[in-house]
Amino acid sequence: MSKTAFLIIDVQYDFLPPSGSLAVPDGEAILPVIHDLLDQSKWDWSVIVASQDYHPQNHISFASNHSPHKPFEKMTLTDARGTSYEQALWPDHCIQDTRGTQLEAKLVEDLKTWGDKVKLARKGTHEKLEAYSAFEGYITSFQTPDEPTFEQTSADPGKTVLPKQSPLTIYLREKGIEKVVIVGLATDFCVLQTALSAISASFDTLVLGPGIRGISPEDTHKAMQRIESLGGTVVDKGKENWTDIVKQWMK
Ligand SMILES: [Zn+2]
Repeated sequence: MSKTAFLIIDVQYDFLPPSGSLAVPDGEAILPVIHDLLDQSKWDWSVIVASQDYHPQNHISFASNHSPHKPFEKMTLTDARGTSYEQALWPDHCIQDTRGTQLEAKLVEDLKTWGDKVKLARKGTHEKLEAYSAFEGYITSFQTPDEPTFEQTSADPGKTVLPKQSPLTIYLREKGIEKVVIVGLATDFCVLQTALSAISASFDTLVLGPGIRGISPEDTHKAMQRIESLGGTVVDKGKENWTDIVKQWMK
């Protein structure tokens, strides 16, 4: 059996109804699915990585830092690498030291049962870099995470790091991982970009429909098509026998 990592993307209060500042519609529906996937009597993950959007208050993606622009507008910005790009502006979310950035409490309890098989991937810590993919984050202890360093918050970030050379890829390769199963929020942004990075880093990649939700139905559909067209495996949201499908795929 090849080694599989379980990647749980951004299951944080600010992305969850009812009170998240950037709540993903129906986002709470993924919680029982993830709970099941963390049941050690049913699943045997070699590694689990939970990603955490972890922004400073002055983050480049916040509409509040580009007044008079409003959340969900798009605007052209230049990031810390001097790259010009189109940013979707967001409401303030997942700010360090707020409840909104915390992982959902039951998920935290479930993750604790896996001990040091669990790592945290913190991303979006640099004030002038957007980071949707978990492969753009730094890897740290889940139980006692490191705060971001100066390099990870405001220094010149240097060249773009390709997914193949990213901290998460290096960690997964060290652990002999060949396959990744991805769940979390939101399908059309951080789940999509994490899946694209995983495929680009040559991991066999499965995105589990019942364990993800998106912001826009149209973009969510496009995201799934894109993942499949690049060689990823997508399990449809409606598949009731997803457990069997995933177990078969992991063999
Ligand atoms: Zn963010």
